[in-house]
Parts: sequence; structure tokens; C-alpha cells
Amino acid sequence: MRRGRHDAVTTQVNGGPHVVVIGGGFGGLTLVRELARARRRGRLRARITLVDRHNHHTFQPLLYQVATAGLQPQDVGISLRAILRRHGIEIRLGTVTGVDATRHVVTLSDGSELAYDRLVLAVGAITEDFGVPGVAEHAFGLKSLPEATTLRNELLRRFEEVSADRARSDDGTLTFVIAGGGPTGVELAGALAELVDLVVRRDHPTLDLERVRIVLVEPRAQLLGGFSARSGRAALDGLRRRGVDVRLGVGIAGVAADHVELTDGEVVPTRSVVWAAGVAASPLAAALGVELDRGRRVPVDDHLRVRGLDDVFAIGDLAAAIGADDRPLPQVAPVAIQQARHVARVLVDEAAGRPTRSFRYRDKGAMATIGRAAAVAELPGRVRLRGLVAWVAWLLLHLLMLVGFRNRVAVLLSWVWNYATYDHSARLILDQREAATAETARGPVPRSWAV
Ligand SMILES: Cc1cc2nc3c(=O)[nH]c(=O)nc-3n(C[C@H](O)[C@H](O)[C@H](O)COP(=O)(O)OP(=O)(O)OC[C@H]3O[C@@H](n4cnc5c(N)ncnc54)[C@H](O)[C@@H]3O)c2cc1C
Repeated sequence: MRRGRHDAVTTQVNGGPHVVVIGGGFGGLTLVRELARARRRGRLRARITLVDRHNHHTFQPLLYQVATAGLQPQDVGISLRAILRRHGIEIRLGTVTGVDATRHVVTLSDGSELAYDRLVLAVGAITEDFGVPGVAEHAFGLKSLPEATTLRNELLRRFEEVSADRARSDDGTLTFVIAGGGPTGVELAGALAELVDLVVRRDHPTLDLERVRIVLVEPRAQLLGGFSARSGRAALDGLRRRGVDVRLGVGIAGVAADHVELTDGEVVPTRSVVWAAGVAASPLAAALGVELDRGRRVPVDDHLRVRGLDDVFAIGDLAAAIGADDRPLPQVAPVAIQQARHVARVLVDEAAGRPTRSFRYRDKGAMATIGRAAAVAELPGRVRLRGLVAWVAWLLLHLLMLVGFRNRVAVLLSWVWNYATYDHSARLILDQREAATAETARGPVPRSWAV
């Protein structure tokens, strides 16, 4: 009989389990490295496989700098094979679409299956549009490198369009609307204001920058919702000083190709809407067949096992782990990293036949930049930093968190360059639409037809 594309036959290596980790983000990458370290030290015998739909890890906290031409895409992304080369981890490029916990297999979008003994889901979150019409069709997301580079292309292109045709400076082409006043929205608004003030002003000296509008829309009464009111005010003052039009207490009712409608009825002409307003757990959560929480996150127990499913763990943005305040933990990188370390401990302890203490999250605080030499930071022990000190702390923390020595050096050099020259050197328009065609003597031909 012909065997299907399925490798359920040999999952045991030297008597150890086959640990399959889905997602090479903050959680998944930390986990496979911890497991490989335990294996090297003889504390674990296991075959380890990492599956991701991208061939790279993405450092999401700096995506907004790629979108505003401060950093190159390769500065915040790193090839999974390059990082894991020396760890003896099998890597599979593919999108997981289903989990069969009875048969212990995951299904990939190409129809193939991968068998596991222990499964860890670390597939993160997607953009949540809260049912607002037009977001999926017309707004830009900022969760991956392709999205960040698409946004960069579009932002830079708007200035070229108005430079070529001045009549367009009043039709909304130079209006940029950012939905969501959380850290991503605030950081993007500040960086965009800086791009206009420092770079576009010099690149397009004849453009009337008075026509540029950056509108940040936040339905709550405060920016940076998870921070103190004082930090929220600091962000508001900092952005307003940089010319950002911050609208508090107003949401977005609908997005169209050439305008957005706000919940107070105002219509803002624009062709550039960035949706930084919310996240929901990956749709893979629904494939587990367990009851999800309100954010469609997967409920887990004290050891991050999916409730009701043996041998399946969920970590990071996907998991609804409950914190000391009885609320689900926030969807931030430190949660994913600490949970990954905990699951590694559980698997090592399980192999040694000893119990593991329950997972407890240690909150290390939160930070957000507002622009050049301006940030807010709230650290444990009620330490509150603002301005230059907070900005330097933010820079150092992000450099430390970045994966890969080359990336750290590249980001540091770019930051020093940008700071010293008031420039953003990564402002290439690399248009995907153009890349999909080949220019021939007969005119442009879609790439699939080109010979
Ligand atoms: C723009 C932005 C800025 C942020 N800024 C900060 C910040 O400053 N500080 C902070 O702490 N947090 C920040 N966050 C949140 C932080 O990035 C997330 O909490 C963190 O990445 C969650 O880690 P994770 O491992 O759960 O998922 P992720 O890091 O998102 O990784 C998920 C991985 O799974 C892969 N994947 C997804 N679906 C599938 C599938 N079906 N099959 C195979 N692979 C799949 C993805 O390709 C990805 O590699 C930010 C997030 C964004 C989007």
C-alpha cells in the first residue's frame, strides 16, 4: 500500500519524544533553543522540530521603524536556519492548518502531516478588526515584515505622488490615519512625524508640508492604555508637539479606499490607514476544538497545557494564561519568552520524573518611544522614566532583546547614523506590484508568463 505524505512512523529518537513547536517567534524560538541546550547538557533526549510559515524570526517591536524607513527589513528579521544551524533542530517551512490531538498529528496547508509526541503551539496573534467595515480591504497591518515593507512603499509613494502632481496635496493623499493609541500606534505616529520633518522636508524641498496630516485615533480617553495616566499624558504632549493630530474618545467606524469615517461622524479623506487597534489569537486556536476565551485565546493550565488536550501546550499571544490579578496575561514578548522557558522546564522535569512548579509571570514593566530622544518607561518598583533617560533605556533593552549578533550591530549602526545625520537611509520603494511583472519589448508581462 502507498504511504501518504506522513511521517508518523518514526517519531521516537533514542527513546526520546518528538517535540514539535509551531511558530518561530519570541515564544517558539526561545523554546527550541532552551530544549536544544537541555539536550546538549544531557538533561533531555528528544527530537525537536520547528515549523513556521516564514523562514525567518521577526522582531515585531521594531517593525514600525522598517515601515518608516529607519531600519532595513533584514535588521529586524533573521533566518531561522541561520540562528538554529548549530542546535540540531529540524526546521520545516509551512503553515499549520489543523491539529488532530487524538492521532497526535498536525496538518500543513500542503496537505502533509507531521506527527508529534509533545506539541507546543506558539503561533501568535493576528490583526483584530472588531468587525469595522473596510479594514481588511483598505487598511495596512503591521504584524510582519512583508506588511511593514508594503507600508513603507505606500508611505514613501504618497510623497512622490504629490511631488508629481501638486493638485493632489488636498485630496487626502498626504493624510495618514493611524487607528489605535497603544504602544504600536504611538510609536508609529512619532516615527512618521519624524520621517516627515527630518527626511521628507529635505527629499522634497518644494512640497508644502503644511498639507501633511498624521491623525492618531484612540477610542479611549488616554493614549498608552496599559500605562499610567501620567505616561499617557507624556505621550499625548510629545506627539502633539510633533504635529500629530491625536483624537481621543473617537473610534473608526469604517474604512474606504479614499477616506475613513470616525465614530463622531467626521469623514477624513485619506488613502493611508494603518490598523494598530487590536490583536486576536491566531485562527489556529479554533482548530483545537476547545472553548476559547473572549480574545479567541486558548485556555491553558498552570503548566501551559491546553485544557482538555494531553501533550499539547500553548504559549505567547495564543495562550490565555491567567495572571496573579486573575486576568489573562498581556500579549507581549516577555510573556511569550517566560512561558517558553517554563514549557522547556516542564519537558525536562517530565523526562527526569520530577514535578515542576506552576508558571508565574514576572512583570518587568513596559516602554514606548514617542520619537527622537523621547520615551516613557514604567519599571518594577514604581520606577517611572521619561524623556532621554527612558529613550536610552528603550534603545538598550531592544538591542539586548534582538536575536543575532549581526542584527544587533546593524540596528545599532543604523540608529547611530539616523541620530547623527537626522536621516533615514532605508527609504527604498521596493514595489511588489512591479516585481510581479517582467518588462519586455512588448511591455510589462506578469512574472508567471515571462520566459
Ligand atoms: C508592531 C508590533 C509591535 C510590538 N511591540 C512590542 C513591544 O514593544 N514590546 C513587547 O513586549 N511586545 C510587543 N509586541 C508584541 C509581541 O511582539 C508579541 O507579544 C510576541 O511576538 C508574541 O510572541 P509569540 O511567540 O506568541 O508570537 P510571534 O512572535 O508573533 O510568533 C508567531 C510565529 O508563528 C508563525 N506562525 C503563525 N501562524 C502560523 C501557522 N499557522 N503555521 C506556522 N507558523 C505560523 C509566525 O510566522 C511567527 O513566526 C508588538 C507586536 C507588534 C505586532
